[in-house]
Amino acid sequence: MILSGNIQSDLRVVSEAQYAFALAYFTGSKAHNIALRGRALRLKGLSLNEYGFSPAAHAKGKSAKELGSSIACRDEAAIYRALDLPHIPPELREDMGELEAAEQGRLPELVTDKDIRGTFHCHTDWSDGLADAETMAKAALARGWSYLGLADHSVSQRQAHGLDARRARAQIALWRRLREKFARKGLRLFLGTECDILPDGSLDFDDRTLALFDYVVAAVHSGFSMERKAMTRRILKALENPRVTMLAHPTGRLLLQRDPYAVDLDAVLKAAARRGVYMEINAHPMRLDLDWRQLQRATELGARCVINPDAHDADGLDAMPFGVRIARKGWLTRKDLINCLDAGQVAKALVK
Ligand SMILES: [Zn+2]
Ligand SMILES: [Zn+2]
Repeated sequence: MILSGNIQSDLRVVSEAQYAFALAYFTGSKAHNIALRGRALRLKGLSLNEYGFSPAAHAKGKSAKELGSSIACRDEAAIYRALDLPHIPPELREDMGELEAAEQGRLPELVTDKDIRGTFHCHTDWSDGLADAETMAKAALARGWSYLGLADHSVSQRQAHGLDARRARAQIALWRRLREKFARKGLRLFLGTECDILPDGSLDFDDRTLALFDYVVAAVHSGFSMERKAMTRRILKALENPRVTMLAHPTGRLLLQRDPYAVDLDAVLKAAARRGVYMEINAHPMRLDLDWRQLQRATELGARCVINPDAHDADGLDAMPFGVRIARKGWLTRKDLINCLDAGQVAKALVK
């Protein structure tokens, strides 16, 4: 699998009556819990903690008569009900507007695993993937998807056996045959490239080669220490290329290993929205990039997103649910993600 190693965990045993409260409390977040406690006190004169509701001893401005009495809650939804709110999905509990949205009946209908019909940024053994294209396609079928996009590295990624224009043409010829074969099985193959954005913002393939692909995932893989203005200019220039369909791992971070590069993300999001370029949520657990905190801003600016596993073998496709959870944390719904379109709609959406 993708990650290995030991993860320390604590086990807490509580009574049945305390269970829902303990679950809500210990799964946080702290900021959300504090906001919820404030609401309980303000509206109901109740204290809320990991054990339950109880009459607040010192509820400001409440007479003894107004102080609430404890309310039994069998599940988390009951806790929210007691506070006159609909159930707030765990992913949204950050005190980032979810309580107000719940109160006003405008919680988003979050995307789910079942809404995902395919994905785009996956590698094969033509570059640094471990599996061949056919194995990847079979793995996509086994996951019940209706399409799969394969996008190997471009020539500048020498250590990853990036393809030059000649090999790209050979790969496309092979893929076209595979595409027919898998079309008969109910899987549509899209043929793309993960094309490097060079330091000056130009792309690693010329326009004629780029035009051969169904889509282009543009990516920064070098020069991470560039200063902010130059990096922003670099990415904005790439987004202006009419062939670019998606922006891979938009900040380049590797969790616990490499910080995001300096970039004016707002400017990038605005340009992506204007150019119709999909912002990637890279679902690999080391990346999870875009960060979920940026996703609300992305949709606010009109940018749409794509969840991609950056898979390097068939098992790598199983990173997709991580991406879905990040999308949920960022308030994304089906309409915000190209992965929720059917194959025919995707084909249209990829035409630039
Ligand atoms: Zn990449
Ligand atoms: Zn990749």
